[in-house]
Amino acid sequence: MAKYLGPVCKLCRREGEKLFLKGERCFTAKCAFDRRGFAPGQHGKTGGRGGSDRASDYSRQLRAKQKARRVYGMFEKQFRRYYSLAQRRRGLTGVNLLQTLETRLDNVVFRLGYAANRAQARELVTHGHFTVNDRRIDVPSMLLKPGDKITVRESSTTATFFKDLRDVAESRNPAMWLERDLKNLSGRVVRLPERSEIDGNLTEQLIVEYYSR
Ligand code: SF4
Repeated sequence: MAKYLGPVCKLCRREGEKLFLKGERCFTAKCAFDRRGFAPGQHGKTGGRGGSDRASDYSRQLRAKQKARRVYGMFEKQFRRYYSLAQRRRGLTGVNLLQTLETRLDNVVFRLGYAANRAQARELVTHGHFTVNDRRIDVPSMLLKPGDKITVRESSTTATFFKDLRDVAESRNPAMWLERDLKNLSGRVVRLPERSEIDGNLTEQLIVEYYSR
């Protein structure tokens, strides 16, 4: 499975806003965007019209799509597949897209507070630390549905990371559409997320316009 290996903070600087890709570090003075809030590269301080008033419609649509892609940590081909899936579903394509992305296993692990960020959640899943409905699953892109139960594997609970996880996770609020059982290091998808419960900075309408060109 391909994953982005480049400098993560550059992605925030490229999009001109904090995407909170590194978890706790994003809320400290070490945040690269807080220190250098301009686009990376030679023309970073002067260029990058994506978010400015001068930006073309295409530029705004592109940036909206890139931002969502980076927030959920995926490459274009995979993101495009989710878009096609969302198109085939009933309802608003943009909302369907965000709902689909939210129900990925790695995102659910992150939303339950069992990982500091989506990249870490993806790694934990890939290493086989979780079960879904009592079956070991190591596919971060697995789409969950209401009723699905996610649990840290029994054999993983002795690892240092998971021993401390209850205390760490307690300070993170799980998403409203999930149910968390910290005692057993598990969680359940209660329902699909409402649009208002998903990142408000994502503009799904622009993503739809981008792919409808
Ligand atoms: Fe973005 Fe977090 Fe890096 Fe700040 S620390 S630039 S919010 S990934």
